Amino acid sequence: PFDVLIVGGGPAGAAAAVYAARKGIRVGVAAERFGGQTNDTMAIENYISVLETDGPKFALALEAQVRHYDVDIMNLQRADRIVPAATPGGLVAVHMENGAVLHSRSVIVSTGARWRNVNVPGEQEYKNKGVAYCPHCDGPLFKGKRVAVIGGGNSGIEAAIDLAGLVQHVTVIEFADALKADAVLVNKLKSLNNVTIHVNAQTTEITGDGQKVNGISYKDRVSNEIHHVELAGVFVQIGLVPNTEFLKGTLELSKFGEIVVDAKCHTSLPGVFAAGDVTTVPYKQIVIAAGEGSKAALSAFDFLIRQPVD
Ligand code: FAD
Repeated sequence: PFDVLIVGGGPAGAAAAVYAARKGIRVGVAAERFGGQTNDTMAIENYISVLETDGPKFALALEAQVRHYDVDIMNLQRADRIVPAATPGGLVAVHMENGAVLHSRSVIVSTGARWRNVNVPGEQEYKNKGVAYCPHCDGPLFKGKRVAVIGGGNSGIEAAIDLAGLVQHVTVIEFADALKADAVLVNKLKSLNNVTIHVNAQTTEITGDGQKVNGISYKDRVSNEIHHVELAGVFVQIGLVPNTEFLKGTLELSKFGEIVVDAKCHTSLPGVFAAGDVTTVPYKQIVIAAGEGSKAALSAFDFLIRQPVD
């Protein structure tokens, strides 16, 4: 069995692996796709000490650093169930989709999250070519340009306010008949002079010139008319979904499906820790996921050294 088994190989899982391995204990990482979301990122310009890199390069660097240590990397492995230890301090079992069962004295879940897509023509084609999901990451790329934000919930309106300070103009597109964000955010948004809000608006297409985004089309759900707005970027803000479907009923999840953790990355199950985008920790960013992964590994180590000798 492992001392620490990490499920998920994004920035959180990689940081956890490095920290745990440096304690000289048996560490494994089972990941569907090593590098996680960073594989899908173009430019990364906010990882401290690295002025600029791209996602695939960053993902390879994560894996190289983990491989530098004696860590058992099990790539292309998807976990589908965690079974708690039968007795305190006993082994936790992680069942994989391929039928394998891995046992460990402690487990760190770092399975990340995924942005909900709007699923309209142009979204996949222009991902990273004008279609973006993270205002903290990609907002500065659109300085002086016109952008749209799809989604009028808290994350959409926060994004619109944030972007309005960076870009020339923001169009907010909300499907429902009103913005669902908190009133204080909606009032702030409405006070800005470079924002246009469309409610009852269904995005029908993200248009482009073959290279990059050049506009967005939406249907006015009252008049059924289709409108087209010329712009350079579209931020899709209709939800971030944590990858916790396989954990339902095993450990405590928030109403958004995130794993509830305390400041030391403890979950509701003894010996099971969690880190990164999959948890309730706010602000889903690489530097934060990496920090949380390190914390989870130190907490797992702390848990292990407190187990009675058998
Ligand atoms: P993830 O990166 O999501 O990794 C999750 C890992 O778990 C993966 O290895 C995955 O394959 C694996 N996994 C999932 N389910 C299972 C399962 N059941 N069994 C086994 N393995 C599983 N952040 C920034 O700081 N700067 C940026 O510029 C930036 N740009 C971004 C651009 C895009 C397009 C996207 C999508 C995100 C961006 N982010 C950026 C956010 C950043 O990528 C995430 O915050 C970060 O990757 C989270 O790390 P994580 O390790 O928690 O999860």
